[in-house]
Amino acid sequence: MIKENVAEVEARIQAACERAGRRREEVTLIAVSKTKPVRDIYEVMETGIKDFGENKVQEMCDKMEMIQQPLNWHMIGHLQRNKVKYIVDKATLIHSVDSLRLAQQISQEAQKKSVESNILIEVNVAEEESKFGLSTEEVIQMVEEISKLPSVHIKGLMTVAPFTDNPEENRPYFRNLKQLAVDIAEKNIDNVTMSVLSMGMTGDYEVAIEEGATMVRVGTGIFGARIYSK
Ligand SMILES: *Cc1c(COP(=O)(O)O)cnc(C)c1O
Repeated sequence: MIKENVAEVEARIQAACERAGRRREEVTLIAVSKTKPVRDIYEVMETGIKDFGENKVQEMCDKMEMIQQPLNWHMIGHLQRNKVKYIVDKATLIHSVDSLRLAQQISQEAQKKSVESNILIEVNVAEEESKFGLSTEEVIQMVEEISKLPSVHIKGLMTVAPFTDNPEENRPYFRNLKQLAVDIAEKNIDNVTMSVLSMGMTGDYEVAIEEGATMVRVGTGIFGARIYSK
Protein backbone atom coordinates (compact mmCIF):
# COMPACT_ATOMS: atom_id res chain seq x y z
CA MET A 1 0.00 0.00 0.00
CA ILE A 2 2.78 2.45 0.92
CA LYS A 3 4.49 2.05 -2.46
CA GLU A 4 1.24 2.74 -4.30
CA ASN A 5 0.69 5.79 -2.10
CA VAL A 6 4.14 7.15 -2.91
CA ALA A 7 3.50 6.63 -6.63
CA GLU A 8 0.21 8.48 -6.37
CA VAL A 9 1.74 11.40 -4.44
CA GLU A 10 4.63 11.52 -6.90
CA ALA A 11 2.24 11.68 -9.88
CA ARG A 12 0.28 14.48 -8.24
CA ILE A 13 3.46 16.43 -7.47
CA GLN A 14 4.57 16.12 -11.09
CA ALA A 15 1.18 17.26 -12.34
CA ALA A 16 1.20 20.26 -9.98
CA CYS A 17 4.72 21.18 -11.15
CA GLU A 18 3.56 21.00 -14.77
CA ARG A 19 0.53 23.18 -14.10
CA ALA A 20 2.76 25.75 -12.44
CA GLY A 21 5.51 25.59 -15.07
CA ARG A 22 7.99 24.39 -12.50
CA ARG A 23 10.59 21.63 -12.68
CA ARG A 24 10.05 18.55 -10.50
CA GLU A 25 13.54 18.98 -9.01
CA GLU A 26 12.46 22.26 -7.44
CA VAL A 27 10.23 20.40 -4.99
CA THR A 28 11.44 18.04 -2.26
CA LEU A 29 8.95 15.50 -0.96
CA ILE A 30 9.37 14.97 2.78
CA ALA A 31 7.72 11.78 4.03
CA VAL A 32 6.34 12.59 7.46
CA SER A 33 6.87 9.39 9.42
CA LYS A 34 5.76 10.51 12.90
CA THR A 35 4.03 7.72 14.87
CA LYS A 36 4.91 5.22 12.11
CA PRO A 37 7.17 2.20 12.63
CA VAL A 38 10.63 1.85 11.16
CA ARG A 39 9.51 -0.92 8.81
CA ASP A 40 7.21 1.58 7.08
CA ILE A 41 10.12 3.99 6.70
CA TYR A 42 12.17 1.22 5.04
CA GLU A 43 9.35 0.65 2.60
CA VAL A 44 9.30 4.33 1.69
CA MET A 45 13.11 4.35 1.36
CA GLU A 46 12.81 1.60 -1.27
CA THR A 47 11.00 4.09 -3.51
CA GLY A 48 14.06 6.35 -3.41
CA ILE A 49 12.79 8.90 -0.89
CA LYS A 50 15.56 10.19 1.38
CA ASP A 51 13.82 12.97 3.30
CA PHE A 52 11.82 12.16 6.41
CA GLY A 53 10.01 14.43 8.83
CA GLU A 54 9.40 13.90 12.53
CA ASN A 55 7.80 16.16 15.11
CA LYS A 56 9.23 14.70 18.33
CA VAL A 57 12.90 14.78 19.30
CA GLN A 58 12.97 11.42 21.06
CA GLU A 59 11.17 9.64 18.23
CA MET A 60 13.47 11.14 15.63
CA CYS A 61 16.59 10.12 17.56
CA ASP A 62 15.29 6.59 18.12
CA LYS A 63 14.51 6.12 14.44
CA MET A 64 17.87 7.50 13.31
CA GLU A 65 19.58 5.13 15.73
CA MET A 66 17.65 2.15 14.35
CA ILE A 67 17.96 3.00 10.68
CA GLN A 68 21.56 4.23 10.38
CA GLN A 69 21.31 5.32 6.75
CA PRO A 70 22.37 8.57 5.13
CA LEU A 71 18.90 10.13 5.14
CA ASN A 72 17.82 13.74 5.60
CA TRP A 73 15.88 14.13 8.84
CA HIS A 74 13.65 17.17 9.16
CA MET A 75 12.45 18.43 12.53
CA ILE A 76 8.99 19.77 11.75
CA GLY A 77 7.38 19.88 15.20
CA HIS A 78 7.42 22.42 17.99
CA LEU A 79 10.86 22.27 19.58
CA GLN A 80 11.57 22.83 23.26
CA ARG A 81 14.81 24.59 24.07
CA ASN A 82 16.00 21.88 26.46
CA LYS A 83 15.78 19.32 23.63
CA VAL A 84 17.80 21.26 21.05
CA LYS A 85 21.04 19.61 22.13
CA TYR A 86 19.80 16.18 21.07
CA ILE A 87 19.12 17.10 17.45
CA VAL A 88 21.20 20.12 16.52
CA ASP A 89 23.91 17.96 14.94
CA LYS A 90 21.44 15.43 13.50
CA ALA A 91 18.60 17.29 11.85
CA THR A 92 19.25 18.38 8.26
CA LEU A 93 16.82 21.24 8.70
CA ILE A 94 14.79 22.54 11.65
CA HIS A 95 11.53 23.83 10.17
CA SER A 96 9.87 25.12 13.32
CA VAL A 97 11.82 28.07 14.73
CA ASP A 98 9.41 30.67 16.05
CA SER A 99 11.32 32.60 18.72
CA LEU A 100 14.62 34.35 19.27
CA ARG A 101 15.21 32.32 22.42
CA LEU A 102 14.91 29.05 20.51
CA ALA A 103 17.25 30.32 17.78
CA GLN A 104 19.76 31.42 20.45
CA GLN A 105 19.68 27.95 21.96
CA ILE A 106 20.23 26.36 18.54
CA SER A 107 23.15 28.73 17.95
CA GLN A 108 24.74 27.88 21.32
CA GLU A 109 24.37 24.13 20.95
CA ALA A 110 25.59 24.23 17.34
CA GLN A 111 28.71 26.07 18.45
CA LYS A 112 29.32 23.56 21.27
CA LYS A 113 29.15 20.72 18.77
CA SER A 114 31.04 22.64 16.05
CA VAL A 115 28.24 22.26 13.52
CA GLU A 116 26.26 24.71 11.43
CA SER A 117 22.50 24.54 11.81
CA ASN A 118 20.03 25.29 9.02
CA ILE A 119 16.63 26.53 10.06
CA LEU A 120 13.33 27.82 8.74
CA ILE A 121 11.16 30.43 10.43
CA GLU A 122 7.67 29.13 11.18
CA VAL A 123 4.88 31.51 10.25
CA ASN A 124 1.30 31.18 11.47
CA VAL A 125 -0.13 32.47 8.20
CA ALA A 126 -3.77 32.25 9.19
CA GLU A 127 -3.08 33.55 12.72
CA GLU A 128 -4.79 30.53 14.26
CA GLU A 129 -4.67 30.60 18.04
CA SER A 130 -4.03 26.88 18.30
CA LYS A 131 -0.92 27.03 16.13
CA PHE A 132 2.72 27.82 16.69
CA GLY A 133 4.58 30.29 14.54
CA LEU A 134 5.07 34.02 14.20
CA SER A 135 2.53 36.38 12.76
CA THR A 136 3.44 37.79 9.36
CA GLU A 137 4.21 41.19 10.90
CA GLU A 138 6.72 39.73 13.36
CA VAL A 139 8.74 37.76 10.83
CA ILE A 140 11.04 40.36 9.30
CA GLN A 141 12.31 41.68 12.61
CA MET A 142 12.84 38.14 13.89
CA VAL A 143 14.77 37.21 10.75
CA GLU A 144 17.01 40.24 11.21
CA GLU A 145 17.76 39.34 14.83
CA ILE A 146 18.36 35.65 14.20
CA SER A 147 20.60 36.42 11.21
CA LYS A 148 23.20 37.84 13.61
CA LEU A 149 23.61 34.60 15.57
CA PRO A 150 26.65 32.44 14.85
CA SER A 151 26.33 28.91 13.46
CA VAL A 152 22.65 29.22 12.62
CA HIS A 153 21.46 29.95 9.09
CA ILE A 154 17.97 30.91 7.98
CA LYS A 155 17.13 29.12 4.73
CA GLY A 156 13.50 30.13 4.34
CA LEU A 157 10.00 29.97 5.78
CA MET A 158 7.60 27.24 6.87
CA THR A 159 3.91 27.17 7.62
CA VAL A 160 1.19 24.77 8.71
CA ALA A 161 -1.94 26.03 6.96
CA PRO A 162 -5.40 25.52 8.46
CA PHE A 163 -7.00 22.11 8.28
CA THR A 164 -9.64 22.21 5.56
CA ASP A 165 -11.51 19.93 3.16
CA ASN A 166 -11.05 22.46 0.41
CA PRO A 167 -7.37 23.13 -0.36
CA GLU A 168 -8.30 26.17 -2.43
CA GLU A 169 -9.07 27.91 0.86
CA ASN A 170 -5.38 27.75 1.70
CA ARG A 171 -4.15 29.17 -1.59
CA PRO A 172 -4.13 32.79 -0.32
CA TYR A 173 -2.09 31.75 2.73
CA PHE A 174 0.50 30.00 0.56
CA ARG A 175 0.61 32.98 -1.75
CA ASN A 176 1.17 35.32 1.21
CA LEU A 177 4.00 33.19 2.56
CA LYS A 178 5.69 33.20 -0.85
CA GLN A 179 5.31 36.97 -1.06
CA LEU A 180 6.77 37.36 2.43
CA ALA A 181 9.78 35.26 1.36
CA VAL A 182 10.24 37.45 -1.73
CA ASP A 183 10.07 40.60 0.42
CA ILE A 184 12.67 39.24 2.84
CA ALA A 185 14.96 38.06 0.03
CA GLU A 186 14.92 41.57 -1.44
CA LYS A 187 16.37 42.93 1.79
CA ASN A 188 19.59 40.99 1.14
CA ILE A 189 20.18 40.29 4.82
CA ASP A 190 23.60 38.76 5.57
CA ASN A 191 23.40 35.06 6.43
CA VAL A 192 19.80 34.76 5.22
CA THR A 193 18.47 33.08 2.10
CA MET A 194 14.86 32.42 1.19
CA SER A 195 15.54 29.38 -0.96
CA VAL A 196 13.22 27.07 0.99
CA LEU A 197 9.46 27.39 1.28
CA SER A 198 8.14 24.48 3.37
CA MET A 199 4.38 24.41 2.90
CA GLY A 200 1.71 21.90 1.95
CA MET A 201 0.59 18.68 3.63
CA THR A 202 -1.56 15.74 2.50
CA GLY A 203 -4.67 17.88 2.07
CA ASP A 204 -3.14 20.78 0.20
CA TYR A 205 0.35 20.05 -1.16
CA GLU A 206 -0.68 20.44 -4.81
CA VAL A 207 -1.98 23.96 -4.24
CA ALA A 208 1.15 24.72 -2.21
CA ILE A 209 3.35 23.62 -5.12
CA GLU A 210 1.38 25.79 -7.51
CA GLU A 211 2.09 28.70 -5.15
CA GLY A 212 5.82 28.06 -4.89
CA ALA A 213 6.49 25.41 -2.22
CA THR A 214 9.98 23.92 -2.44
CA MET A 215 9.31 21.35 0.29
CA VAL A 216 6.03 19.55 0.90
CA ARG A 217 5.47 17.50 4.07
CA VAL A 218 3.24 14.51 3.40
CA GLY A 219 2.34 12.04 6.15
CA THR A 220 -1.12 10.49 5.76
CA GLY A 221 -0.93 10.50 1.95
CA ILE A 222 2.10 8.19 2.11
CA PHE A 223 1.84 6.18 5.34
CA GLY A 224 -1.95 6.12 5.78
CA ALA A 225 -3.88 7.45 8.76
CA ARG A 226 -2.07 7.89 12.05
CA ILE A 227 -3.38 6.15 15.13
CA TYR A 228 -2.56 7.97 18.34
CA SER A 229 -2.61 5.77 21.43
CA LYS A 230 -1.87 7.03 24.95
C1 LIG B 1 1.95 15.78 10.82
C2 LIG B 1 2.53 16.91 10.08
C3 LIG B 1 2.55 16.91 8.66
C4 LIG B 1 1.93 15.83 7.81
O1 LIG B 1 0.54 15.85 7.90
P1 LIG B 1 -0.40 15.01 6.92
O2 LIG B 1 -1.67 15.75 6.89
O3 LIG B 1 -0.53 13.65 7.53
O4 LIG B 1 0.26 14.96 5.60
C5 LIG B 1 3.14 18.00 8.03
N1 LIG B 1 3.69 19.01 8.73
C6 LIG B 1 3.69 19.03 10.07
C7 LIG B 1 4.31 20.18 10.79
C8 LIG B 1 3.10 17.99 10.78
O5 LIG B 1 3.11 18.03 12.13
